[in-house]
Amino acid sequence: MAINVKVLARPVEDVSYVRATLKGMALTFRHLVDPHKVTVQYPEQRDELSPRWRGTHRMLTTEDGKAKCVACGLCPTVCPANCIKLVPGEDEQGNRYPLVFEIDEFRCIFCGYCQEVCPEEAIHVGRHYENSEYSREGFVYDLERLVSQTHAVCEMWDPTDPRGE
Ligand code: SF4
Ligand code: SF4
Repeated sequence: MAINVKVLARPVEDVSYVRATLKGMALTFRHLVDPHKVTVQYPEQRDELSPRWRGTHRMLTTEDGKAKCVACGLCPTVCPANCIKLVPGEDEQGNRYPLVFEIDEFRCIFCGYCQEVCPEEAIHVGRHYENSEYSREGFVYDLERLVSQTHAVCEMWDPTDPRGE
């Protein structure tokens, strides 16, 4: 596709900024009295997030409250941001579980690959974005924190329903 570039000539004489200022003020005033304002009074008022929103992670648990993760290592392998830390452990019965499972939400690019690849449907990106912190370290979510999240999880893109209807 051709890209059109509009070249604006620089004014050679002194110009008055009064007209431009008045135009700007008129535009502002028009928006002040516009009944169809789009401003949202956050946080009291929030728009509903898309079911496919990919935000803060959540680790789902089994019925007895344990993390569903079996420390298979797929999510840290597939993660393009290299922001998942996993140290696997194994109990006496040979069941694998994560000794350490951390996600750096600050480095994460919320691609959702970890959710897609997880064979246990344990790790999910969530429909949540309010995760501000005072330090970078605060964005490293450990297993306990991931398990304690309660927000809704993302419904990934469904190729049979590309418009999500
Ligand atoms: S959403 Fe993507 S970048 Fe973030 S932890 Fe999962 S795989 Fe890594
Ligand atoms: S892919 Fe799932 S089961 Fe495997 S390490 Fe990641 S969270 Fe655990």
